[in-house]
Amino acid sequence: MVKTPIDKNGKGNCCPKCGSKKVSVHMQYPLFVEEDLNTGKEILYHLSTGERLYNPTIRELALRYKLAKLDAQCWIYKCRKCDWVSEMFTP
Ligand SMILES: [Zn+2]
Repeated sequence: MVKTPIDKNGKGNCCPKCGSKKVSVHMQYPLFVEEDLNTGKEILYHLSTGERLYNPTIRELALRYKLAKLDAQCWIYKCRKCDWVSEMFTP
């Protein structure tokens, strides 16, 4: 695969500083959480039945993580070799 340094638009596949392909993307996702105002306790509903969940399973919590990942708010690129960090990108 041809090495293309990451440019101002965030396109490319290698570090513009050292040329390494050991580049990571660091993304930020929104996680919307509902809490009771007075108790501070999180209120969760089952995603398909809408029933209140008092003891959510790891699987039910993981599904929320997966859904949040569909909607990146911003991201940066970081080179794991020379520590180069890009500017921040948004959709
Ligand atoms: Zn680098």
